[in-house]
Amino acid sequence: MRSALEQLLLPAECLLCHALLAERDTTRVVCPVCRHRWRPVRPPWCARCGQPEPHFGPCRLCAEWPAALTLVRSAVWLSDGAREAVHALKYGGLPRIADDLADAMVALLPAPGSQFQLHLVPIPLAPKRLRQRGYNQSDILAASLGRLWHVPVSRDLLTRTRETATQTALTPETRLANVAGAFSPGHGPGVNRPWPTLVLVDDVFTTGATLAEAARALEQAGARTILGITFGRAVIPDFT
Ligand SMILES: [Zn+2]
Ligand SMILES: [Zn+2]
Repeated sequence: MRSALEQLLLPAECLLCHALLAERDTTRVVCPVCRHRWRPVRPPWCARCGQPEPHFGPCRLCAEWPAALTLVRSAVWLSDGAREAVHALKYGGLPRIADDLADAMVALLPAPGSQFQLHLVPIPLAPKRLRQRGYNQSDILAASLGRLWHVPVSRDLLTRTRETATQTALTPETRLANVAGAFSPGHGPGVNRPWPTLVLVDDVFTTGATLAEAARALEQAGARTILGITFGRAVIPDFT
């Protein structure tokens, strides 16, 4: 209903290039041309965290991660258009752009089939931040992916005990310290044991500290295999 109303009121043009959207794309926020311009994150990368491999030695980014967090991937580099799209999702009051972002994430994991059970777990916001924004962008992203993959979204497994300071210009090690204890296992009914494979969903990966801390809380609750996927991956200028 709301989406139909938006379409009546708003000119159906691409958020990024302002080209008019073709009839088949009017439910979209970003046109196919702009979506194809998003730069995919590609190998060679660290098999675990998906970061381009360092020139020397082992990967420093995922060395301190909890053992249960076995694989993390991001769809695209957070360059111009992709950054704008995330901004629209987070701050622009355009949650339906999540469908465009989720489309770019679909190939990050092999299509889930009946052979293994996946549960998507959005990275929660602290209650105050959730009230301010009115929605959790990771939750909406997970819901879009859940519809594409036909897998459930578990919102009661994880709670955020505090919001963390903006993480710009911190090293991977200080970022981990910055988010320490920011999550705890949820108090809801949870999932049926044995635990399914959990897939943490977030909008942006910078050093992975947020995903690692969320995984730590889930691991302590008993989860054994946790994956992480994000739409964007920020380039860390001072990190190789
Ligand atoms: Zn466009
Ligand atoms: Zn790594």
